[in-house]
Amino acid sequence: MNTLPTIDLPGLELLAWAIEAGGRGWRVFPLRPGDKRPAGHAEKYCPGTGRCADGHKTPEQRATTDVNLITTAWAHHPYNIGIATGPSGLLVVDLDMPKPQEPKGTPDGVTNFSALCERAGQAVPDTYRVRTARGGEHLYFTQPPGARLHSTAGKLAKKIDTRGWGGYVVAAGSLTPDGPYTVLNPRPPAPLPDWLHDALKPVQRPVQTMPPVTTNASGYVAAALRGEVHNVATAADGTRNATLLRAARALGRLVASGDLTRVEVEEALSRAAAGNATQSQRYYDDVIRRGLDWSITHHPTGKRVPA
Ligand SMILES: [Zn+2]
Repeated sequence: MNTLPTIDLPGLELLAWAIEAGGRGWRVFPLRPGDKRPAGHAEKYCPGTGRCADGHKTPEQRATTDVNLITTAWAHHPYNIGIATGPSGLLVVDLDMPKPQEPKGTPDGVTNFSALCERAGQAVPDTYRVRTARGGEHLYFTQPPGARLHSTAGKLAKKIDTRGWGGYVVAAGSLTPDGPYTVLNPRPPAPLPDWLHDALKPVQRPVQTMPPVTTNASGYVAAALRGEVHNVATAADGTRNATLLRAARALGRLVASGDLTRVEVEEALSRAAAGNATQSQRYYDDVIRRGLDWSITHHPTGKRVPA
């Protein structure tokens, strides 16, 4: 350690904070001095040398608790301190302040979080807490065993983000032109409360009760109709419209061949879409109509059944 360059006082304080965070088991990495952005190069400017010789290392990948690595890095520059929340086993609730350009009286994240706790019938959790440079707060929690919670933005409430895997927080001791990051409560982070964990889990769509499909068709035709209804009823968000269009086109062939009536296909698909809707029914019915029209135009085979 006696080969280190002389560190000025602000640099020493930052080094001490970085070591303190590492000592809590939190993986730290340097942020640009006086800034919230990671130091070092972005992936697109990766030179492929040094620590990136085997491929670019993201801050999350190179964050460390190693006191020697921390000392070496912070000896060179008065870096601010980033904590890679995911590999540190942390889920940090980030209570933000309204931006200066937002209307006066816009509730801040602290207010919204208190309201959220009250609605849930829960006390505001007692945990490691940092005041941010702009006057917001960071509440640190440990991730539930086996969980791998990612960052969210505005999912809990307005002005409330969370930092987990894929994210980081600016740690206590860091300084920006807006002010310092200071510890409000130094106790170890509490486990993430169940009610917050529930609110952060990816939305599990309830299993859809399949709309009953009634048709006089038999054999593979009925199976095709039920299959497409199932596809539409269980389509994931973001794929529903494409699934519906594909189903209408597929079944349109069977309408063109006279194996199904247009009315029974429209009704079955419309009900399947309604059971799993994120758009208006009119929108879905329009998709169905376009799909059927396309298919009937392109496959005018067999007995044509009037619409
Ligand atoms: Zn790189």
